[in-house]
Amino acid sequence: MELTVRNVTKEYKNKKANDNISFTLHKGVIGLLGANGAGKSTLMRMMCGILSPTEGDITYDGIDVSKEEYRNVLGYLPQDFGYYPDFTAMDFLMYMSALKGLDNIDSKKKSIELLKSVGLFDNRKQKIKTFSGGMKQRLGIAQTLLNEPEVIILDEPTAGLDPKERVRFRNIIAELGKDNIVLLSTHIVSDIEKIADRIIVIKDGRVVFDGKEEEAGKDLEAFYLDIFGGEE
Ligand code: ADP
Repeated sequence: MELTVRNVTKEYKNKKANDNISFTLHKGVIGLLGANGAGKSTLMRMMCGILSPTEGDITYDGIDVSKEEYRNVLGYLPQDFGYYPDFTAMDFLMYMSALKGLDNIDSKKKSIELLKSVGLFDNRKQKIKTFSGGMKQRLGIAQTLLNEPEVIILDEPTAGLDPKERVRFRNIIAELGKDNIVLLSTHIVSDIEKIADRIIVIKDGRVVFDGKEEEAGKDLEAFYLDIFGGEE
């Protein structure tokens, strides 16, 4: 399991959203930390193969991430995920399974198993429009796991969650990181503190820190403030 970003630059018209980014990810939880506009979503979209780099390449175990094969091992939760408000949680997972081309019987079993693991089994027959933000995000996570991915990419998954939901979420992420590459982006330090095995900080499209929390040399919140000041 090796996800490699090599000298990746992404230019939009006359703006470099990512500027010569390189790193290799292995199993574990990796926090991608940066203020709004730092370039996190752009990088994640490229790492999912849905956006092409202007320069450089991204491979998973040697396979380019634009290849179909990679889709089978990838689970992606975009920031603006559409939830189909009138679907029940169970219907939604079954529908997503069909979209992902997964087998019907396995899908039912898998959906139930995932609803249990994200704590939504008792809500499985409830319509999504009745769900809290945290419940929707947990359903979003369940959806990314339907195909039993090895690489899980979550774009600002804790946006809009209350503190209790954040804790619940962190526990799910930590569990997933035991067997998979889990990359999650955030601008909130406490989301990845303690659970990230590695932290990559990006600012103005460049990696400004890549290491373990303790290597930041000080409290992570203070470290982040040094880099970004009051930026959100
Ligand atoms: P983040 O996820 O960290 O908030 P983004 O990757 O969304 O950062 O954005 C990085 C920079 O690229 C920002 O300045 C943003 O305005 C710009 N950007 C993002 N998407 C586009 C686009 N489709 N066209 C032009 N500029 C974009």
